[in-house]
Amino acid sequence: MTERIYFKDASCLEFEATITSSGQVDDQYFVTLDKSAFYPTSGGQSHDTGYISELTVTDVIEDGSKVKHLGPKPFGSEGDKVHCVIDSDRRMMNRQMHTAQHLLSSVFDRLIDGLTVSVHLGEEYGAVEIKKSPVSDDTLKKVEDEVNKLIRDAIKIEVLFVHSSKLKEAGVNLRKPPSREGELRIIKIGDIEQSACGGTHCDNSSSVGFVKIIGTEKLRGNTLVKFLSGSQLLKDYNQRFKVTEQMARDMTCAVVDLPEKISKLDNLQKDMRRQITALQRQLLPLKIEEIAKLVVGKSGISIVSEQIEDIDPSVANNLASSVAEKISGVAMVLIESRLIIASSLKNVSAKQIVASIVEQTGMRGGGSDKIAQIGNVSPEIFDKAKTILLDSLPNG
Ligand SMILES: [Zn+2]
Repeated sequence: MTERIYFKDASCLEFEATITSSGQVDDQYFVTLDKSAFYPTSGGQSHDTGYISELTVTDVIEDGSKVKHLGPKPFGSEGDKVHCVIDSDRRMMNRQMHTAQHLLSSVFDRLIDGLTVSVHLGEEYGAVEIKKSPVSDDTLKKVEDEVNKLIRDAIKIEVLFVHSSKLKEAGVNLRKPPSREGELRIIKIGDIEQSACGGTHCDNSSSVGFVKIIGTEKLRGNTLVKFLSGSQLLKDYNQRFKVTEQMARDMTCAVVDLPEKISKLDNLQKDMRRQITALQRQLLPLKIEEIAKLVVGKSGISIVSEQIEDIDPSVANNLASSVAEKISGVAMVLIESRLIIASSLKNVSAKQIVASIVEQTGMRGGGSDKIAQIGNVSPEIFDKAKTILLDSLPNG
């Protein structure tokens, strides 16, 4: 059995211990210790990382009553004394996130009778699955505000050890009934929240910093509420700050004016697109003449197969059909990534040529005898399509 230092002291980040067993699984080495402050993955909370005798601990797992520390190099043998150090940033992130989760679960319970049925405390964000659906944006805002108030109130957080049969006598009122009997470890956040939990928590609600609900998902008829807290929230803010500052500089406006500025640019772009399309429609006859000149023949059939730049996709079909009419033959054009085949001949079906290309390239497409197309075509596929076109034409 490993004595778990973090049960009583989540602030302990450095300790001395003795190796009680060691071994190897695949390319990972492990040790168990007589005591450990390393938190093993359990109860929805992810493991600690750190060092044992300056060797990296990459994973920590539970093995019955023991804690197994895993890493890429052998840590030592039974009886060796080792000095252990825990990664403080990761520990603090987990403490903040776990306490934030208890606060959120407590407030959801109190405000909307939303029982927490599962939790996820991940590397990027935390989440609570609430037995309520849907949960309105208004409710989410109220819950977030209330949790941040509890954080500001700097409420003391204590760890109690009480036997499951003596909860009433000890004045303990758990948010959720305990899942097992025996001695329970209880996280008590002032008078507002008491839960049986084995995780590492802050000593005071104020250490959580802030909580921000970042989104919801429907899950098994419940609502998964995703949140950021403490250092995860700051990391996210720093990323967003960098991006929005750069955008504001590029667009020479304040961050708050970005949506309006982007909307104006979007409208301008749509306007210009409309004008370009109108101009291209006017110039279409000239473009058709130009492309029709690129005609080649095979067995008496006139063919044009070209990749065409600088043309609006909205006139693509019209262009292909007109070229086919003009040359009294078959036109195959690639415009952006759209391959269009048009035929003005009765004995050559555009649909059948597309079917041959689809069969030999695994692309998807279809159409009529006069005009057919394939999407997402690369220049390499287009080259292949040219060969397939020539092969599929009738002789003479
Ligand atoms: Zn917990």
